[in-house]
Amino acid sequence: MAELDPEMLKREMTDWRRDLHAHPEFGFEEKRTAAFVAARLREFGLDDVAEGVGGTGVVGTLKRGSGNRAIALRADMDALRISEQSSAPYRSGNPGVMHACGHDGHTAMLLGAAKLLASEGGFDGTVRFIFQPAEEWGRGALAMIDDGLMQRFPFDEIFGLHNMPGLPVGHFETRAGPIMSAEDNFEIMLKGLGGHAARPHSGNETLITACALVTNLQTIVSRRLSPADIAVVSVTELITDGTRNALPGLARILGDARSFRPEVSAEIERHMRTIAEGTAAAYNVTAEVNYTREFVPLHNDAELVEATFAAAKKVFDPRNIAVAREPMTASEDFARFLDHVPGCFVFLGNGEASAPLHNSSYDFNDDGLVFGAGFHAAIARQRLGI
Ligand SMILES: [Zn+2]
Ligand SMILES: [Zn+2]
Repeated sequence: MAELDPEMLKREMTDWRRDLHAHPEFGFEEKRTAAFVAARLREFGLDDVAEGVGGTGVVGTLKRGSGNRAIALRADMDALRISEQSSAPYRSGNPGVMHACGHDGHTAMLLGAAKLLASEGGFDGTVRFIFQPAEEWGRGALAMIDDGLMQRFPFDEIFGLHNMPGLPVGHFETRAGPIMSAEDNFEIMLKGLGGHAARPHSGNETLITACALVTNLQTIVSRRLSPADIAVVSVTELITDGTRNALPGLARILGDARSFRPEVSAEIERHMRTIAEGTAAAYNVTAEVNYTREFVPLHNDAELVEATFAAAKKVFDPRNIAVAREPMTASEDFARFLDHVPGCFVFLGNGEASAPLHNSSYDFNDDGLVFGAGFHAAIARQRLGI
């Protein structure tokens, strides 16, 4: 076992992170990224490196001692279809695609942890390093699971992290129970009879219905769900086939709903159908609702949350470790793994000056790399203690 020079590892992780940042790839297209990850894992001398798991996913396996327990550490590799605004020398070289969510940083941190654990050990059992594709789509984790992840590379628990703009670097937060929401999408198609703008009484136009419906949908959260349930219903698009002097016969309303329990998601859908059909009937048009579930809610296991707080104390200043105040109404594909094993998802500071996630000026803060790699290694050692 060789002790790594922390400064050298930090420099190396920064180089990897910037290399990945300069070569962002969209979900399920992470070919270069996956090859980069697999090449590093092989360099570190892992026991096994499997590529092409669920499309472009990579799984590295590291065994030490004789323990039969296994834990998984997970990072996401995909970028977004956003044009980067940056003058950094390592800015995106792939026009229209950028690492605007810091998955370049998450990948570099997990590689750092793999190098650290491969070189220094300090655990008894198996660590699986899971590099998943297509997190932003909410499809990558399922693709790996459908490709036999749990059978081919079994593990008992899983841990993951996300950087958090606004939270100072070196700060750590998580909470037991619900921490990130489900995401549902909806599309409501209104169909009537368009016609001359000067003769509204001779048709059944759909724009006035759409306006009423957008307003009525606001009553799902404010008047139909329990105030104790956190939920969001956002209408994000309204498209019609109307023109300057013609009333639309078609109107399409699209939007996004968030919640933390499947029962609440089901209630939102049920009320949405009732309100859409009722509003349409009042205006003598028809409504068709298409409601889909994209992300499931993420619930942290209470016992593992305590374990991550204990592990975090080895890496973070105890004054910078906190219980997250409230669940976030953003969603995470990591939740799919928790249908199979218990796990915990945590947040690490990306700095108070950081641009928001999914913003064209966002950049992962390299000062956070050592904290992420350190946390991954610490939780592995804590759960697979010698
Ligand atoms: Zn994202
Ligand atoms: Zn993300």
